[in-house]
Amino acid sequence: MRVGILGGGQLGRMIALAGYPLGIRCTVLDPTAESSAAQVCDHIRGEFDDFQALYQLAQKSDVVTYEFENVPVESARWLAERVPIFPPPRALEVSQDRLVEKTFFQTLGIPTPPFAAVTERHEFDNALAEIGLPAVLKTRRFGYDGKGQVVIRTRAAAERAWEKLGGRPLILEGFVPFDRELSVLAVRGRDGEIATYPLVENEHRDGILHRSLAPAGDTAEELTERAAEYASRILTELDYVGVLAVEWFQDGPRLLANEMAPRVHNSGHWTIEGAHTSQFENHLRAVCGLPLGRCDPVGWSAMFNFIGNVSPAADVLKFTEAHLHTYGKSPRPARKVGHVTLRAETAEELRDKLPEWSRVFDRPDQGPG
Ligand code: AMP
Repeated sequence: MRVGILGGGQLGRMIALAGYPLGIRCTVLDPTAESSAAQVCDHIRGEFDDFQALYQLAQKSDVVTYEFENVPVESARWLAERVPIFPPPRALEVSQDRLVEKTFFQTLGIPTPPFAAVTERHEFDNALAEIGLPAVLKTRRFGYDGKGQVVIRTRAAAERAWEKLGGRPLILEGFVPFDRELSVLAVRGRDGEIATYPLVENEHRDGILHRSLAPAGDTAEELTERAAEYASRILTELDYVGVLAVEWFQDGPRLLANEMAPRVHNSGHWTIEGAHTSQFENHLRAVCGLPLGRCDPVGWSAMFNFIGNVSPAADVLKFTEAHLHTYGKSPRPARKVGHVTLRAETAEELRDKLPEWSRVFDRPDQGPG
């Protein structure tokens, strides 16, 4: 089986690596010469709206997928006329626009923070009056890792936020005083079978995922089931194939949907060592029409991202529980360049070891600048 991947970052790299044992060969389309995935699989160098490059990818693939959600929907639809493409382009369309996405959640009965569409100044004033402070003003499109958003706590901050972001299609959301952030990853096969990983607890810093704990500690079974049920509504509604991630705010007993990613996700990296089947393998199984693998965890995992710069392997691997993943990317501030997953046999072992792991791996951005 030959799989084409739109995007050649670390997610594409880890998908390609998961393909080898299954006899699946991947080709990535990516504009950059030093693409992380291109170091481990075939590479077509081109932009995502370069139809010649897209044509080449279709020629080299039995099925095409994506590793990032800002692929132009038009390109995905163009490809869909030539080669099977999963997840469906409609999933891209929904996740590319925060307003469309939150409205979509609402139509499926999935709770979200309060939100309002804002383009004109008077809409901003109305939305502030309706939603109240604190609130978060975000661009509707092309925001990721906390970019394109401002938290507003005062009237003066509202003015500054408008100066910074005003004039573009925006969304104002109520600020959720969440207890913690969670995510759920679910996968749906071409035959409609659905499998779900346990809830993951995520910590962000400056909008970038910093640490994931899986399964999320102290989680009521009911909460896990609810997250899985919501994810399954999304998968079924979109006739989705592949891995989907949904990020949540937990506020007491409430689970509020923040956003979804129609792809493998950073909060699922722990599944490489911490689950029966990794998210990358299950994504490939799904898009290739193969049976899905078990999603249940193997022990308890902590995943730390390396932001800016990777720690020397010799330091990381002093921890016998550590599994190091480097992405072959040059160091740069705020850039995800690798991760480490540490696995414990029991929740108690994780609790005992986490302080020491955190002392070493819970580090600030170590970019060269
Ligand atoms: P996003 O790009 O929407 O995933 O936002 C990045 C991070 O900002 C989230 O992971 C949260 O930590 C924080 N955040 C975003 N929206 C809200 C909100 N409505 N209330 C509280 N925190 C938020």
